[in-house]
Amino acid sequence: MSGEVLVTGAGGFIGGHVVRRLVESGQPVIAVDVKPLDSWWQRSAARNVVADLREPTTCARLTRNVRTVYHFAADMGGIAYISENDWRCAATAAITVNMLRACIDDGVGTLLYASSACVYPTSLQGADPVPLSESLVYPEAPEGGYGSEKLFSERLCGYAAASSGLQVRIARLFNVYGPLGSWCDGREKAPAAICRKVAEVALGKSEDVLVWGDGAQLRSFLYIDDCVTGLIALAQAGATGPVNLASDQLVNIGELVEMVSEVAGVKVKARYEEAGPTGVRARIPDIGRARQELGWYPSVPLSEGIRVTYRWIYGQMGHLDAVTCGHH
Ligand code: NAD
Repeated sequence: MSGEVLVTGAGGFIGGHVVRRLVESGQPVIAVDVKPLDSWWQRSAARNVVADLREPTTCARLTRNVRTVYHFAADMGGIAYISENDWRCAATAAITVNMLRACIDDGVGTLLYASSACVYPTSLQGADPVPLSESLVYPEAPEGGYGSEKLFSERLCGYAAASSGLQVRIARLFNVYGPLGSWCDGREKAPAAICRKVAEVALGKSEDVLVWGDGAQLRSFLYIDDCVTGLIALAQAGATGPVNLASDQLVNIGELVEMVSEVAGVKVKARYEEAGPTGVRARIPDIGRARQELGWYPSVPLSEGIRVTYRWIYGQMGHLDAVTCGHH
């Protein structure tokens, strides 16, 4: 099938990496983001467009002659950001409505939607956690404005597909990390924030590492390269239901701090602040469907991905005084 591939949110973390992989594989790509070009985390040899997808006519203009859309544009961030910005996160639904309408009108083949583990009920992620398989979304209790928007947008995708020729693919992503993403702008997630705080110790700018919660929060972290492979496999697959993309290597936050310290070669003292924003207690993915339907399984061990991520963040700190970050 001819036509271009459109990637929304291409100036962001995941979108930027997906664009790069698609361009490297020789595909014609339109990359769009609302941020000015010099604020994109990376730029590839794509048709890079700065545009606001809250504007319906912009979406309609971009989807002409496009065969596949990877839809990542969203107003989002780590737990601190999403817990303080319900409205901003929820309002991202407008972008998805615009994109779906444009895809239907222009006869786009497939739209891949980046959903999140935040769609799963928080009650399954407490002291007695359940491995989250895709069917466990009901009874609905998503996490705040961010999770509600993701669940609603998944449904929008389903309705759009049911009423048109558009195929939709839904990736439920669990904590993706790696270089070339937020690490110091208030939207960073735990792995980047911990890498930054450990690097501050390594650089003599800080004496200890402040960690939100008691360190026992259980998580899995998916390295960006594995994530991109899974997303592209999903876009090309026949799967129509949502598919979890996650690592099944579980780690608690205290262990993650230790792992980063080891990679950094510094001894750090973790200072736990239980009142900080921590999210759910334990988030355990079930990745059986991705394995079965896509033949996908994450290949990068956490220690390896953290090594690359730490080195990148440490390098970034040479360009910026870490104390100006201010998101501790
Ligand atoms: P990101 O913040 O790095 O990228 C999102 C990009 O969307 C940003 O560059 C932003 O400028 C752009 N954007 C926002 N509003 C826009 C608009 N009106 N018009 C055009 N562009 C706009 O986030 P990310 O980590 O790359 O996440 C990408 C997607 O994956 C998001 O939908 C996110 O919810 C989802 N997701 C990410 C993770 C993760 O761990 N990173 C986990 C679950 C789901």
